[in-house]
Parts: sequence; structure tokens; C-alpha cells
Amino acid sequence: MLTYLGVAGWPVAHSRSPAMHNAALAAVGLPDWRYLRLPLPPARFAETVRALPAAGFRGINVTIPHKEAALALADGVTPMAAAVGAANTLTFLPDGTVHADNTDVAGLLATLPVDPAGARALVLGAGGAARAAVHALRTAGAADVQVWNRTHARAERLVAELGGRAVAVPGPAGIVVNATAVGLQNADLPFKSLPLQADTVGVGSCVVDMVYRPGGTRLLAEARRRGATVVDGLEILVAQGAASFERWTDRTAPREAMRRAVADVATA
Ligand code: NAP
Repeated sequence: MLTYLGVAGWPVAHSRSPAMHNAALAAVGLPDWRYLRLPLPPARFAETVRALPAAGFRGINVTIPHKEAALALADGVTPMAAAVGAANTLTFLPDGTVHADNTDVAGLLATLPVDPAGARALVLGAGGAARAAVHALRTAGAADVQVWNRTHARAERLVAELGGRAVAVPGPAGIVVNATAVGLQNADLPFKSLPLQADTVGVGSCVVDMVYRPGGTRLLAEARRRGATVVDGLEILVAQGAASFERWTDRTAPREAMRRAVADVATA
């Protein structure tokens, strides 16, 4: 009898999580476990997730655009997921209940190469990933967290819940986190769709792109070229995925095997 894990998203074809988690399952010796890709349109999300435990699922990751819906359907919620207002990890407990957690916050903080304490930060986006980024930066002591979003009202709602300030035109920031989906489908979008100036992503700044894609994103390539310190979304993927893996399997996540699997697909 197989035990299933998976990642639910819309779209989800780009996700490296299946390669990463299947490598991890093999590395820790769980041959009867499988991690699947679950393309779920928003209208089918809640009913499908509710049916997964009976189909042999132990848990799932949740990605774009379901993280807020995942929190809403859960029976139990960790303090972290409740504070963020979004969940990226659902665990199906033996009593049939659904437990929600958020490992994106820890994933982001684990990979940041600079201390956010006292820093001025800019978060682009107001969805689940942006919520995790704002919460991470504020709890780590950032002095100012600007939040810009294409739909401004959503940024205002986010800061009303999590703190920071919604901005229509971002000011200077030492840490920039792209938590929009820009760059996911079309590598060339960033500087047309995001309110970034060349000097915001240059020497002295740290640019984090939560988006990842084969060959890296245009945003990171431009930031690197201008002398910024950069964090690739793949590094965050490994860190948040390791935390999810440990919740489902009670095994220590084989981070090196996960990193190798993600890098192999990235260069494939
Ligand atoms: P989400 O909740 O659906 O939010 C999507 C965000 O992207 C919203 O702020 C949306 O703005 C914005 N957006 C979409 N298309 C845009 C465009 N053309 N121009 C400007 N803004 C646009 O998704 P999410 O879960 O937060 O994920 C966001 C991204 O982060 C995804 O690419 C996801 O793969 C990535 N991510 C990566 C990791 C990792 O481990 N590396 C972890 C989490 C998320 P509106 O509100 O105006 O629609």
C-alpha cells in the first residue's frame, strides 16, 4: 500500500517539489511513498483536498494561489500559519482532521544572507508568499517593511493584518523580496511589471526572488549583474520543503539530496 504526498497548485507544472521530495523519500528509505503533482483549479481545491486522506495521502504542500484557502479549510492551525494568514503545508492526521502549517517563513529566514534587524525592506506582492515574507521580516526586526502590490487594496489589507506599510511607489530598500508570480511564466517581465529602479537592485542591496525557473529568473540575473547579493527561490524551496518533509515523515530531511535533485532539474 502506497503512501502519498503532493503539491497542489494552479499552475503547478513548474514545481520542483515532486523531484525534490521523491529524491528525499528515496534517500531516507521510504520506497512505498510517492510525492505527486496535483493541478487543482481554485473552484475544486477544498473538495479535492478533503478527499485526499481517503486516497492514501499523508500531507500536501500548497502553492499558488491556494495558500489562504488552505488555511481556511484546516481544522487545526499552527501559531505560525495563523500569524501569517496563509498555509503552505497541510498534514492529514489519523483522526481525519487537516492540520495547517507555514514553513515559508522559516525557509526565507534560513536563506537570507543579511540580518534583517534594523533594515529597510520592500516586499512585492500580497499573496501567500508575500504574507510569509512580511511576517518573517517584521519578526526578525526590520525597521521598515514596504509592501507594493499590483492590486493596491490587497496590500492595504495585508499590512492591516501583519504590519508594514502599503506603498504605491516604493522608496529605497536594502532588502527586496519578489513574492509576486512575475517571472514564473514569462522570464522577461520583471522590469516592466514590477516597480523596480536599477539602483534598488544594485550594489549594497539583497534581492530575494521567491520565484524560480530553469536557468534562474531575469530579476536575479539583472540584480546579480548590478552587484546585488541575491537569493534564488530554489534555496527557499529546499529550506521550506525540508521542514514540510520532517512534519510528514518524522525523519530528518536529507537536505543535500534535496538540493541536488532541485539543481539537476534546474539544469535539465
Ligand atoms: P498568490 O497568493 O497567488 O499571489 C500572487 C501574487 O502575484 C499577487 O500579489 C499578485 O498580485 C501577483 N501577480 C500575479 N501576476 C502579476 C503580474 N503580472 N504583475 C504583477 N503582479 C502579479 O501566490 P503565492 O503563493 O504568494 O506565490 C507567489 C510566487 O512565489 C509564485 O511564483 C510561487 O511559485 C513563489 N513561491 C516560491 C516559494 C519558494 O519556496 N521558492 C515559496 C512560496 C512561493 P494581485 O494581488 O494584483 O493579483
